[in-house]
Amino acid sequence: MKQLFRIFKFSKSLWPYYLGISLSTILLAGLSQLQPLFTKGAIDQISKGLGHSDVKIVALFAVLIFVTDVAQTLFSNIGGYLGDMMSVKLQRFFSVHYYQHLLELPQSYFDKELSGKIINRMSRGISQISNFTQTLSNNFLQFIFSTVFSLIIVALYSWQVALMLFALFPIFILFTTKSSKKWQGYQKEINAEQDIAGGRFNEAIGQVRVVKSFVRELSEIAFFSKRFDKVVKTTSPQSKYWHRQDVYRRLVLNTIFLGIFSYIFIETANGHFSIGTMVLLVQYAMLVRIPIFTISFLVDQTQRAIANTTDYFAVMDEEVGIKDIYGAKSLVVKDALIEFDNINFAYNKNPVLSGISFSVEPDSKVALVGESGEGKTTITSLLLRLYEPQNGVIEIDGQNINNVSLVSLRSSIGVVFQEASLFSGTIRENIAYANPEASDEEVIRAAKSANADEFINKLDQGYETEIGERGLKLSGGQKQRIAIARAFLKNAQILILDEATSSLDSKSERMVQVGLDRLMKGRSTLIIAHRLSTIKHVDKIITLKNGNIDEIGTPSELASTSGIYAELLKLQQNDNNTSKKKLTKYDISS
Ligand code: ADP
Ligand code: MG
Repeated sequence: MKQLFRIFKFSKSLWPYYLGISLSTILLAGLSQLQPLFTKGAIDQISKGLGHSDVKIVALFAVLIFVTDVAQTLFSNIGGYLGDMMSVKLQRFFSVHYYQHLLELPQSYFDKELSGKIINRMSRGISQISNFTQTLSNNFLQFIFSTVFSLIIVALYSWQVALMLFALFPIFILFTTKSSKKWQGYQKEINAEQDIAGGRFNEAIGQVRVVKSFVRELSEIAFFSKRFDKVVKTTSPQSKYWHRQDVYRRLVLNTIFLGIFSYIFIETANGHFSIGTMVLLVQYAMLVRIPIFTISFLVDQTQRAIANTTDYFAVMDEEVGIKDIYGAKSLVVKDALIEFDNINFAYNKNPVLSGISFSVEPDSKVALVGESGEGKTTITSLLLRLYEPQNGVIEIDGQNINNVSLVSLRSSIGVVFQEASLFSGTIRENIAYANPEASDEEVIRAAKSANADEFINKLDQGYETEIGERGLKLSGGQKQRIAIARAFLKNAQILILDEATSSLDSKSERMVQVGLDRLMKGRSTLIIAHRLSTIKHVDKIITLKNGNIDEIGTPSELASTSGIYAELLKLQQNDNNTSKKKLTKYDISS
């Protein structure tokens, strides 16, 4: 139920639409309520016998019925237009809020949720919200209005019939709400299965090369269809249950109507009602049936809305976790001195780093070295504040990164990862992702610095070449040089390079390295490299072991100790298989 209030609260700015739709439905209901009165008028007039002027009156009733018909057509279409507009505005509102909230959620949320699930929850929630609000604004006021109106008119002619009609409502509502709880339980199971299917769908389509190369199309489809088999299996008892309840409800309703009609007919036969009154009562009784059936429709939609928006609102309730403190100032980078002080960090309960303290001096290169899984990437994530350490402080030029605004922090750090992570669109758009206002000259300058301009110019469309989803039309080395151009354009004073060349062949690697070397000039850089040749040229090496810092020193200092770096150098010289294997453990290739 809480969700329903939230839907109204969120969408209260749309009240003119609710009002407009309700008004037109009330007018519609009012018009349809008038028709029995006109029919009765005509019948009464005819059964009295017709004089010359009476024919005109009877004809007038026919015209009145025509006018109400035309007015109904008009109002139902005005209501329909308002309904369409309200629905699309609701969709915009709830989709945008969802997207906005999602993008604020911390990285840790995306670590645990499949993107397909996230999308599924949005589309399910939103289509349901729009259905529900439409149903409600179309039916709720009209339902109350036409019921009250009919009952009053009926009561004027026969309070007994009015009472019998009135008794239908509590009975019907009781029946319907009782069956609703169980229905929702089934729906929850159905949604869970659909989410799993949607999550996998998204993953498989996103990595369709892998699916094809391992020839797993059939098993992916089997996984997907199995989930829907379960949906089918659960829908069967759910639907049976709902419709069995509906049969019971309607049987009770029909029985009561048996009483009502018998009463009207017998009383008319006994001369207590005129034929005109009889027709009027029968017509109103029929009109009251409609809102009663509307109740089960309304309850049906309400339970759907509750069950199908639960997941949507659960996402909206996810804590934003990492956000600006109150009154956070912008980070001011002067020299770009980075200091990690006694950092402890664990993913959930899984400790990765402990007591990490080091600094990256202005305009210097610092390499992180350690076995795969030691926490090198984690250190860079902490600097970007994608996660927060449980203990310790990270400062940039003396400012605690927790106290400055996220926008200013992340704007000051350029990153190049192993995965270039481009978007569909043109090369120009991808480079300008760092700064959409950049001029063509700036984009080209960035591409030149990144050693990318030459290959871009060889493409048919040059900078306007469409590169496909995540850049799949480019080679690894080309993608990476676009990513470097993007980092150039960002022109941040701090730079993170996380295995930026490790997925490349040696020829592309050399071309990318040229770009990277230019990029690092004049910036404070944290490098995770997979080549000892790169590591040899940094200002400082930090080696990690068991979540702690093992050694810190210049390459030449560490070369003469018995630590990890010295061992790596030795392994590289040995050039045999066991040595190579050991190097691989450090994500290093000789
Ligand atoms: P490296 O970059 O040194 O290879 P990472 O920093 O990526 O290592 O990972 C350090 C450890 O943290 C690994 O044991 C890894 O399994 C774990 N880890 C990395 N990312 C996550 C995550 N998002 N959630 C939970 N554990 C993670
Ligand atoms: Mg890593």
